[in-house]
Amino acid sequence: MPRFVDTSPPGVCIFCRIARGELPAARVFEDDLTMAFMDIGQVNPGHVLVATKRHAATLFDITPEEGAAVMRTVQRVAAAIGDTFDPPGLTLLQANGKEGDQTVFHFHMHVLPRHADDGVGLSWPRKESGMEALHAYALKLAGALRAE
Ligand code: 5GP
Ligand code: ZN
Repeated sequence: MPRFVDTSPPGVCIFCRIARGELPAARVFEDDLTMAFMDIGQVNPGHVLVATKRHAATLFDITPEEGAAVMRTVQRVAAAIGDTFDPPGLTLLQANGKEGDQTVFHFHMHVLPRHADDGVGLSWPRKESGMEALHAYALKLAGALRAE
C-alpha cells in the first residue's frame, strides 16, 4: 500500500477537491452519490477508485444508501474493467483507519485488475482459534447486532 497520507481536514481533502473539480482527475463515471476515477498510483493498468461524493472518512461514516451506491458503481466499473482490460482476476480493497492501511481519509474502494505474479500482496497471518473461540466471537457480534 502507498505510504503517502492525506491529513487534510474534512471538506478540503484530496477527494473532496476532486469531487468539486478543484483538482484534476481522470474521471470514469459519476452519479448522485458516487464518483469513479483512475487511481494516480496505478498498481495495475485500469486501477480505479470509487468514492462517495460527500466527505465521509470511513465505512463507519457513510450512510447505507451511500454504501449501496458505492457497491453498485463498483460492480459497473468492474464490468467495464473486465471488458476493457480483460484481467484474469480482480480485487476489491477498502481500507479504514491508519492501522487498516487507509491513506486518504475519504471513503473509497479500490477496484484493482489482477494478474499472475503482479507483486500485489497482503500478508494474512491466519490463526486456528478453535470452534469455542469462534462461537464466543459470533455470540458477541450477534448480541451487538441485535442491540442496534
Ligand atoms: P488508501 O491507501 O486510502 O486505500 O488509498 C488512497 C489512494 O488514493 C492511493 O492508492 C493513492 O494512489 C490515491 N491517490 C492519492 N492522491 C491522489 C490524487 O491526487 N489523485 C488520484 N486520482 N488518486 C490519488
Ligand atoms: Zn473528503
